[in-house]
Amino acid sequence: MFGFDAKNKLILDTKFICPACTLILRDPIQLTYCGHRQCQSCFRWQYGNLIKCQQCLETTSQNQVMLDRGFKNDMQTLPIECSFGDWIGILRNYQTHLDQYHRNPICEYCHRQFSTVSNLNGHKLLECENIIVNCLLKDFGCDEQIHLYNIRNHYWSENHQDSLTRIVQRMKLQIENMFMSSIQIDTHPFRSPTVVPVDSNIVRFQELFEILNIRQDDLNISNYTAQERVNNALFQCQKKSAKLTLSLL
Ligand SMILES: [Zn+2]
Ligand SMILES: [Zn+2]
Ligand SMILES: [Zn+2]
Ligand SMILES: [Zn+2]
Ligand SMILES: [Zn+2]
Repeated sequence: MFGFDAKNKLILDTKFICPACTLILRDPIQLTYCGHRQCQSCFRWQYGNLIKCQQCLETTSQNQVMLDRGFKNDMQTLPIECSFGDWIGILRNYQTHLDQYHRNPICEYCHRQFSTVSNLNGHKLLECENIIVNCLLKDFGCDEQIHLYNIRNHYWSENHQDSLTRIVQRMKLQIENMFMSSIQIDTHPFRSPTVVPVDSNIVRFQELFEILNIRQDDLNISNYTAQERVNNALFQCQKKSAKLTLSLL
């Protein structure tokens, strides 16, 4: 079982989205240490006494994890647009609608048929060979095409790490340059400031970092934890925009 897919998934508040399956939460479990939620079924995949949050990577011990009934109740009236057709309703009635009208759904990418919508969603996330995406760093030197199910592995590949390291180095340099020129302006108010050529790619990457909410000290990506945080932020961002960058084989 995974969360619910819906046409309007991307415009819902992100608190309703499971960071593990990136679908609308089904039976939300709250991790009490950081407060984030995941589907109950997505949570069960994990093992050991410490549970690592898929969103912020903080850990919560297993006995501090509980089904969030209040949140689940609040979600029942969420507006839903059926991912297969014109049906519009609320989350409470969605599963019944799916069971009634979308039995044996077909994967639109590989045309395999499934017994339930939930199995189809799992197939798309974990194994469909025909869902290919561009890496989010495509414009920054990582031009590999990746299976959607393999994105996390891709982020740890040498090619991707090299692109990330290169872009971060250039970004640091640019920040230093901007800092130096601002000092020059301060100390010599009547001299025209030195013009530092701005690399528009770097500016876009800086914007991406801001969207991803990556901290300045994470720029030191030779550190494993920082690298993990950057990759996780990329993963969350890529999964959310997956629909926009999908291309068929
Ligand atoms: Zn989930
Ligand atoms: Zn968290
Ligand atoms: Zn429908
Ligand atoms: Zn498929
Ligand atoms: Zn990449």
